[in-house]
Amino acid sequence: AVDLGTPSVPRPRRRCRQIMVGGVPVGGDAPVSVQSMTTTVTADVDATLRQIAELTAAGCQIVRVAVPSQDDADALAAIARRSRIPVVADIHFQPRYVFAAIDAGCAAVRVNPGNIRKFDDKVGEIARAAGAAGVPIRIGVNAGSLDPRLLRKHGRATPEALVESALWECSLFEEHGFRELKISVKHHDPQVTVAAYRLLARRCDYPLHLGVTEAGPLLQGTVKSAVAFGLLLAEGIGDTVRVSLSAPPVEEVKVGIGILESLGLRGRRLEIVSCPSCGRAQVDVYTLADRVAAALDGFPHPLRVAVMGCVVNGPGEAREADLGVAAGNGKGQIFVRGEVVRTVPESRIVETLVEEALRLAGDFPDG
Ligand code: SF4
Repeated sequence: AVDLGTPSVPRPRRRCRQIMVGGVPVGGDAPVSVQSMTTTVTADVDATLRQIAELTAAGCQIVRVAVPSQDDADALAAIARRSRIPVVADIHFQPRYVFAAIDAGCAAVRVNPGNIRKFDDKVGEIARAAGAAGVPIRIGVNAGSLDPRLLRKHGRATPEALVESALWECSLFEEHGFRELKISVKHHDPQVTVAAYRLLARRCDYPLHLGVTEAGPLLQGTVKSAVAFGLLLAEGIGDTVRVSLSAPPVEEVKVGIGILESLGLRGRRLEIVSCPSCGRAQVDVYTLADRVAAALDGFPHPLRVAVMGCVVNGPGEAREADLGVAAGNGKGQIFVRGEVVRTVPESRIVETLVEEALRLAGDFPDG
């Protein structure tokens, strides 16, 4: 295991430069942004734009698209023009696609130093083109594609190796006076990821893009990302996040937003406070909580809704909620701000909660 040091306590945000990814500031005092990556073939412009629209609706602020072929590079202009959020071109292997992405109007370009052939020779040209277009570059180092020279030197993808790779590439850009950079140093192991970002945070003042790469399926990837991002963000490290999941990218956005909300880094909208159920439960709490969450999905104000399986402890446990239900005996006691306001048959619990939520909407300052 990697030494994670002393337990983290919330600390002020790490001071770093700010870059603009299209209209989204990253770093400095900008709020931590959430991003994701499309899974469509980028050359399929309509499918890619449809997925970008879904991601945008879910709260994604920056989207990345893969550019593995000339057809994909050719599609970038239409995608960048029609996307409502900034589009980042993800380039491996081919420096010429970097120029294509800049010409196409992409908001940023991600390069993986370990994967760009003859990258070092091209840095001057890339720096000039990106600088002239006002396009920042992400140096995205991945454990799985670390520069072979560093792999030989360090024996494996250690935090030091990841950071050395990133800072080496940054220094090449700096030689050409280009500093519109952000960095990621991703590893599939959250402990190595945390150690790498901590080291990187101490050694540069560039904004940092957090990610645990190949984090796994939905549950495992969520846990790994929440642990790594939670530790780092609580220490003030991290300016934009991408959760990598073997799941539809909308899930990545939901998890990223959820992590930021849990850390108090952005205001929560809907929060369902549901009990885990136990032998006292008089309703199927899991199903009821899912139905309430679905019915109130997209509610435009911060709302904490309690779903409790019994009347014994329910209302007391949920006193902090704006609204809630404690089920029992085929009925639901509906309570608003801790007071029981009515009792309805179990079949009407969900619609009654929605009615009460709409009534409460008028009380919010932006209601
Ligand atoms: Fe059990 Fe009732 Fe607490 Fe739910 S609210 S966990 S059913 S005691």
